[in-house]
Amino acid sequence: MIPLAEALATYPAQLRPLPAERIPLQQALYRVLRADVLAACDLPRHSQSALDGYVLTAADAARAPCRLRIAGTLAAGDTAALTPLVDGECRRIYTGARVPPNAGAVVAQERVSIADGHIGLRESLKPGANIRMQGEEMRAGSPVARSGQRLTPGLIAALAAAGAAQVQVTRAPRIRLLVSGDELRPLGTSLADGQIWDSNGPLVLSWLAAHGYAAQAQHLPDERVDVERMLDAALTQCDLVITTGGVSVGDRDYIIPSAEKLGVRRVFWRVAQKPGKPLYFGLREGAAILGLPGNPAAVLIGLVLHVSAALDVLAGADSVGASFHPGTLAAPVRGAAQRDSLLRMRLEYAADGRAMLHPLPHQDSHMLSNLNRADVLAHVPAQDRIHAAGEILGWTLLA
Ligand code: AMP
Ligand code: MG
Repeated sequence: MIPLAEALATYPAQLRPLPAERIPLQQALYRVLRADVLAACDLPRHSQSALDGYVLTAADAARAPCRLRIAGTLAAGDTAALTPLVDGECRRIYTGARVPPNAGAVVAQERVSIADGHIGLRESLKPGANIRMQGEEMRAGSPVARSGQRLTPGLIAALAAAGAAQVQVTRAPRIRLLVSGDELRPLGTSLADGQIWDSNGPLVLSWLAAHGYAAQAQHLPDERVDVERMLDAALTQCDLVITTGGVSVGDRDYIIPSAEKLGVRRVFWRVAQKPGKPLYFGLREGAAILGLPGNPAAVLIGLVLHVSAALDVLAGADSVGASFHPGTLAAPVRGAAQRDSLLRMRLEYAADGRAMLHPLPHQDSHMLSNLNRADVLAHVPAQDRIHAAGEILGWTLLA
């Protein structure tokens, strides 16, 4: 049995990032950049109005109260050449429209009176008021995003604003999910005695989808020949093979002996974590296999802690695996001897701002119903003792 922290450290030590490719930005959600992205233009690209109002010269902005003749309109997207402003005149201008070269300030329309084609300016304006200056955020050629960053929706918008039509990112990993167990039936079918509906398949596929990954899923019967044949194909065709079930000590748990007969080198088997101890990690040439235990709550811990770390390394991400934040236990929990526990808890912020961790019932590895309330996994270090209310634990979002 390997300590949890040691197991998690093997992913960056044993795996390498997959090759990079250049793809359209819009297809790159949750991919990891493999090259810095530089702004193609100044940001903002042109000096522009920050609001709907009137643009005037610096001299007029300073000599309020005054009346200025409205001489024309400037709208966002106007491409006609801009003529300079003349003292004593202003122009109607809308948010995002370019300001004339000698613009001194923009006054909000709510702050002026209008009569006879003139505005009445009551108060003077600071130089540059309500003008977004060209390049004030960054200059063309400055980095907008760095290699190793994962592309979130917000970062995609930032790169779009900076003109990055194509991005250099790690190619998508080829993932195969093999769900083992003769007792399993797909959802929507009726069950004979002794059968259950497969919940690991939906769990893994939706967790992967939520993180921007797709996988091909197959059901694996508890037959040695089938396990060997399907594992061999998966290890040949894929970068990462995720299995569920069949990695424990039952006589029909064929995944590990089959994988190793097929040439997989064991990195570890059995992690000091609860639930999910019999987790297996192995490598064969360009492929990795993560054998998750069958119990669904163990699969969840496997995804949040182990699969996330392995995929982050394969993707070339600069931050690897789940990150933990401090929280305060709202009620006592019992730790386990020799194994770190990962308990599903509800997160609630106290009036003083502390993150309060509320333990939930039904923590056993075959139970999932508390996921209707659980927000986080809380990490209880290996120690056979009661952790009292008020103790600090690490938590990570169950997103
Ligand atoms: P195993 O590790 O294959 O012995 O499975 C451990 C437990 O998890 C058994 O009770 C299995 O029935 C259950 N289990 C395995 N796979 C799944 C699955 N895909 N969905 C729901 N339960 C499962
Ligand atoms: Mg099984």
